[in-house]
Amino acid sequence: MVGSSETMAPEAPTSAVGERLRITEIFHSIQGEADAIGWRTVFVRLTGCPLRCVWCDTEYAFHGGGWRDIDDILVEVASHGAPRVCVTGGEPLAQKRCLILLQRLCDAGYRVSLETSGALDVSAVDPRVHKVMDLKAPDSGESARNLWSNLEHLLPHDQVKVVIASRADYEWARGVVAEHALDRRCMVLFSPVWGKVQPRELAEWIIEDKLPVRFQLQLHKLLWDDAAGH
Ligand code: SF4
Repeated sequence: MVGSSETMAPEAPTSAVGERLRITEIFHSIQGEADAIGWRTVFVRLTGCPLRCVWCDTEYAFHGGGWRDIDDILVEVASHGAPRVCVTGGEPLAQKRCLILLQRLCDAGYRVSLETSGALDVSAVDPRVHKVMDLKAPDSGESARNLWSNLEHLLPHDQVKVVIASRADYEWARGVVAEHALDRRCMVLFSPVWGKVQPRELAEWIIEDKLPVRFQLQLHKLLWDDAAGH
């Protein structure tokens, strides 16, 4: 039976008290990559990841962390006074309530980005969120985890990132961009694995092949040598 608007109970808020997430760290820094590079940003790093990329630089986020109410997370984010928030991990979507956090941050007026592995379904992510979605190249050891159906859920403001550890990875990525016309869906980023591919080498491959992708170096590695909390 359909009730009138007078008799129906209001919908329960999506931010029910007690909605909690396991958080590794919340910190205020400079965005080191993707299209928001260089902007002051608050990072919310969720704990846990079901993948094990061989070159992972955030293994400290696999375990531990602490449970935090979403309301508390919003208070801490607000205390830093930055207009941009990046929800990252680990793999933030491994915790289902991450979707609520993303929605709450958007509702609060932040420009929100989500860094995700590309292995978990992104279809329910709030469309206001700027997704920065990895596609895992072979040398990561996790390319079998790429959830290709995610490509259908990319919006023009999203970005696809391929982290490249070798010439073979580069050729794989070049093929994927062409096969899926990725550059016509959104911005595509190629990023070298620190210590595996010379950044200049990757830049020259991109130039030589006239690829429609954006080369990037991770600014936070240059500034802080990848220390946690930056
Ligand atoms: S998906 Fe990200 S956090 Fe997870 S293992 Fe790979 S690089 Fe590390």
